[in-house]
Amino acid sequence: MQPPASSCTPPTDIPVGEHSRQWFRRAEQVIVGGVNSPSRSLEAVGGGAPPFMVRGEGAYLVDVDGRRYIDYVQGFGALILGHGHPALREAIQEAAAGGTLFGTCHPGEVLLAEALKAAAPEVVERVRFTASGTEAVMTAVRLARAATGRRLLVKFDGSYHGHFDAVLVGAGSGASTLGLDESAGVPDGVKADVLSLPYNDPEAFAAAVRRAGRDMACVLVEPVVGNFGLVLPRPGFLETVVEQAHRAGALVIFDEVITAFRFRPGAVYRELGVVPDLITFGKLVGGGLPIGAYAGPSRLMDLVAPKGPVYQDGTWAGNPASVAAGLAAVRVLTGQPELYARLEELGRQLAQGVRERARRWGVPAVVHQKGGAVCLYFTEEPDVTDFAGVARCDGRRFARFFQAMLRQGILLPPSPYEVWFLSAAHGPQEVERTLQAADRALKELAG
Ligand code: PLP
Repeated sequence: MQPPASSCTPPTDIPVGEHSRQWFRRAEQVIVGGVNSPSRSLEAVGGGAPPFMVRGEGAYLVDVDGRRYIDYVQGFGALILGHGHPALREAIQEAAAGGTLFGTCHPGEVLLAEALKAAAPEVVERVRFTASGTEAVMTAVRLARAATGRRLLVKFDGSYHGHFDAVLVGAGSGASTLGLDESAGVPDGVKADVLSLPYNDPEAFAAAVRRAGRDMACVLVEPVVGNFGLVLPRPGFLETVVEQAHRAGALVIFDEVITAFRFRPGAVYRELGVVPDLITFGKLVGGGLPIGAYAGPSRLMDLVAPKGPVYQDGTWAGNPASVAAGLAAVRVLTGQPELYARLEELGRQLAQGVRERARRWGVPAVVHQKGGAVCLYFTEEPDVTDFAGVARCDGRRFARFFQAMLRQGILLPPSPYEVWFLSAAHGPQEVERTLQAADRALKELAG
């Protein structure tokens, strides 16, 4: 089922090949909806079989039909060095040879914890690893509730923080893609302890503090939003959040599962100049293997068992394989800071190129970009600054654009709410090919 690289065929007019369609039919018989994460489904972009991949090679993915795609999913932002980076491969192979799970302490977890401390020195004294970003955020919220003795979690509409009950209130990413911002099965009692507010709206935040400040345990926020596209905080927004939350006696958790090591060799808050009380990590710090971590000052973190009364545990937490891959990734990223300047330049070229081509064909669009992260919104509005603005974008137009790009061998995340991620393995050639494809896709949309 795995064709040799030389058999790669350029995609044709049919969005995916016959072998992918066959695998999808088989998948639907054994896996819910044929996908193991709803974000991978093509439901929101016209439906049908997604390409089934067999191999990743740098900026490319190769599917079961031998089609080769320029990959902008990059593991939904978990990869920044591209597929199969030699340093990560070597670290994973070494870990596999030495045992992938000990169920004991080991030196690698100490080294990666030290690296996270260095990545966010104003916040981190103690780290605890988990197996996913969801677990990291879930425990950080539990810790904040324990530390403050309060119940209310404040979050922002359309942000995504994993899939535990509380953060599925007003959730973004795959949940909003499928119209499930309010997941079934979340008890009313849980919802009553969550307040979801519009992002980038300091007045709404201030009003919520006046109304419910004394119940607020914590404010959970993506300092740069990566889950309703890519939205930067307006000047002063995060400052207001931190200042008013603290005045109300609440803690601030920055969810940096997407952003840490994405834009700079460390946490993004350092660039924004706003410091949280707790921070969560995931994705990039696992070097392509599953990971999560929450971290903060010891006065808070020492409330976690075995030092304190907040319980969190995990068979896979800090497993040697994830930690080895994460450490290799972090070492490459901190050792090559020029890589970020390159990603910024490529991201700028891609965003500017798409913007120009949309204008050329008279397709109303807004393109956001920061570093190697890009997002295209089909909207007539001058900008998109919150979830409501994203929800007003033309989803049908995005679906047609996605399909047209897929036919030309460009794999975008299958949702207007997701970010396109460039990796260190992408170069000017890939950006140029993507822009040529975007030109044809936008011409089709205009026609
Ligand atoms: N937090 C943010 C900001 C995320 O984007 C995600 C996943 O996309 C999570 C948390 C959950 O991480 P995981 O998928 O590893 O559970």
